[in-house]
Amino acid sequence: MRILVTGGAGYIGSIVVEQLVEAGEKVVVFDNLSQGHAAAVHPEAQLVIGDLADRTVLDSVFADFKPEAVMHFASRTLVGESMEKPFHYLGDNVISGLSLLEVAVQYGVRRFILSSTANLFDRPQRIPIDENEQVVPGSPYGESKYILERILTWLDRLVGLRFAALRYFNAAGASAERGEDHHPELHLIPLVLGVALGKREKVTIFGDDYPTPDGTCVRDYIHVVDLAQAHILALYALDRGSRVYNLGNGQGFSVKEVIEVARQITGQPIPAVIGPRRLGDPAILVASSEKIRRELGWQPRYPHLHEIIESAWRWHKTHPNGYGDRP
Ligand code: UDP
Repeated sequence: MRILVTGGAGYIGSIVVEQLVEAGEKVVVFDNLSQGHAAAVHPEAQLVIGDLADRTVLDSVFADFKPEAVMHFASRTLVGESMEKPFHYLGDNVISGLSLLEVAVQYGVRRFILSSTANLFDRPQRIPIDENEQVVPGSPYGESKYILERILTWLDRLVGLRFAALRYFNAAGASAERGEDHHPELHLIPLVLGVALGKREKVTIFGDDYPTPDGTCVRDYIHVVDLAQAHILALYALDRGSRVYNLGNGQGFSVKEVIEVARQITGQPIPAVIGPRRLGDPAILVASSEKIRRELGWQPRYPHLHEIIESAWRWHKTHPNGYGDRP
């Protein structure tokens, strides 16, 4: 299949591309490299550097490559930043997604995968969170993804565009060659490993007064390789209809537990201090992924936090400056 992957030079996108290429698919990556890295793109995938806001370039990519499926990762992704810059999220994320969809429909694409988020569940009534949970976006970021989900349901109904929206919980870990390299880095696991590598002095725990067993936030960390596999299964299932899945491991770990496991794996003390809560952080986010297991036979290969952090540690040790393309 010919697959266009927007944001395919980013953390999750690049690992999905790696797996698509390994599955024998033809991939074009469309990325403006604002967050992504050219070196993260699998050498057998073609990289087109361009912005979704540039309709001319987008049009020519569709005209030249004639994709049969689109996977859409390109997005602003920071919950905290979206609370401060709502227009960047409610504007850019929605408008660029809509523009991509308009061109895709125009060129007859009938398969679309949206990278969505657990930030749709700000007030979960039940843990683990399944697909019946009421959607309450926790930020303009979450809202922007939900708006795209809603747009997709209309396009399914009106023009037969089949879609899967995959609502990720906390993607973490690395493949052998590709890992997490954000600028600035704001995610817990790479920050903690940065301390172990001596790049940072300490990690700050954002609040220890949450209603959780040790007072720190509980999250569901899912190995990025398992997450990527779910995209491929979802893509192949689209001919049987559109679908929405929550994707996590079903098991939660607190910030303190993550730091403790990282200490064991790295053998480093990793100093941690308690700081104030971060705006927009719910106490507990843990997914039920029963639906995708049942419907698509998805099985995480690396469900243990230990394996997840170990894989991230291997990558960070061999790539202490990430992809090495940022100061
Ligand atoms: N966190 C923290 N200190 C940091 C970064 C993150 O305590 O320097 C916490 C954060 O409050 C959340 C968890 O670690 O409870 C995971 O945060 P991350 O930003 O990695 O992912 P998110 O849950 O925001 O998607």
